[in-house]
Amino acid sequence: MAKLTSKIEVESVLKEVTQWRRHLHQHPELSFQEVNTSQFVYDKLQSFGNLEVTRPTKTSVMARLVGDQPGKTLAIRADMDALPIEEETTHEFKSKNPGVMHACGHDGHTAMLLGAAKVLSGLKDEIVGEVRFLFQHAEEHFPGGAVEMVEAGVIEGVDFVIGAHLMSDLEIGKVGIVPGPMMASTDGFWLTIQGKGGHGGMPHQTVDSIVVASQVVSNLQQIISRNTDPLDTVVLTIGKFVGGEAGNVIANAVKIDGTVRSFDPKYKKTMPELMERVIKGITDAHGATYELDYVKGYDPVINDETVLQVIEDTVRELYGETTLDYQRPKMGAEDFSGYLKDTPGAFFTIGAGNEAKGIIHPHHHPHFDIDEDALKYGVNIFVHAVFKYLT
Ligand code: MN
Repeated sequence: MAKLTSKIEVESVLKEVTQWRRHLHQHPELSFQEVNTSQFVYDKLQSFGNLEVTRPTKTSVMARLVGDQPGKTLAIRADMDALPIEEETTHEFKSKNPGVMHACGHDGHTAMLLGAAKVLSGLKDEIVGEVRFLFQHAEEHFPGGAVEMVEAGVIEGVDFVIGAHLMSDLEIGKVGIVPGPMMASTDGFWLTIQGKGGHGGMPHQTVDSIVVASQVVSNLQQIISRNTDPLDTVVLTIGKFVGGEAGNVIANAVKIDGTVRSFDPKYKKTMPELMERVIKGITDAHGATYELDYVKGYDPVINDETVLQVIEDTVRELYGETTLDYQRPKMGAEDFSGYLKDTPGAFFTIGAGNEAKGIIHPHHHPHFDIDEDALKYGVNIFVHAVFKYLT
């Protein structure tokens, strides 16, 4: 560890971090509507002293801790938004906002980063360079808060950016590390196959949109098996297929919604082209028409080897080798990728599951929960990593 370790004192903020997490949990707000959440964060940051606190967008907050000695700049990001889910836990700090719940742990992310900011704000004279705390709105809702914050300039002059996610499917005491590609890019598509409806007994007078759309579905899967490199990972999922009104009526139109995920940015360009070729060919062949709306979403999260190495070293020195859990990439997505366009960064996960305590529910579930003991891992790793990056 860098020799400053002895000056770092994290224990004293942990009680508050838990209180902040519970307060945020009780008052969740949806993406782009984090009005009270961001005000809470803003007020706390102001109270710590030594921080320049600003609002890059309406519901986000940035705090800059400029050290007494010049050097590099490290940004640490936490997301703050909740989800449109009715909470079903029995916590006394259960959501007071009907139909809205912190079901992904972003309350914990915000609390951990506040804790780190509080500890570090007291160490301004030891900081070489700058630490920038990014409290981001709207991770859960496309187009996401990250790109808006980047557009507002939060990443200008930043040398490295890091972030973490609490995970209920990773046991408490573990820190998940994925070298290189970690989370997929995600695009969305909305497709309408327009046929010509009619009597179920007289198909020759119609263009059956269900028959045509069914062929579109199976041929789209063929793009994955025949047109993408088998050594690349690409997923095309159709999660919604809606058409027809009655068994004896040929459906006029079918609506199909889906998602495309990959790690290689080239597929963001080629997939919509390949899909359109297939859709156009099939609909033309059968006298149907189509409308395709393909929206490019979050980029993949690709960890920078050098930046990730610092996290690994920090975890190893704080908790030992066995805490590190090397994992495979996942096809889930994170808008943390928004910060990585021109800035090297690393994202890691913090185990927050605990079978013995019944904390076993997946993210975005009405019973989702975190083991609050996980919060100290986040604060500790952030604070110690700062001194590794900035020395
Ligand atoms: Mn999340």
